Amino acid sequence: MIGPATCPDLRPGETAKRADEVRKGDLVVASTIELNGHTLRLEHSSVYAADPQPDNPGCGCFGHQALDDEDRARPCVVLYAGPLWDWSCDVVPADALVIVRVTR
Ligand SMILES: [Zn+2]
Repeated sequence: MIGPATCPDLRPGETAKRADEVRKGDLVVASTIELNGHTLRLEHSSVYAADPQPDNPGCGCFGHQALDDEDRARPCVVLYAGPLWDWSCDVVPADALVIVRVTR
């Protein structure tokens, strides 16, 4: 059972923004999911610098395969596709909140 959420929990220096508002160079520290009306924070094991690109729905990478039908039904963006996960995309719904550390 997941406890009451007062989320997303932001730490100093972090901000939550829509995935389609993430800019190149933003340090992505966590994604979020909506669950029972709460926004829960899903920590990334590795922080990465975003390099947003348009979605590529035909992509067969692990990241794209991990999308569920609900995600696929929404516009998505690719926030990163690089060596961190063997060139697998970090693809997220465009209106999902992601937690970033802004360096500028
Ligand atoms: Zn992909």
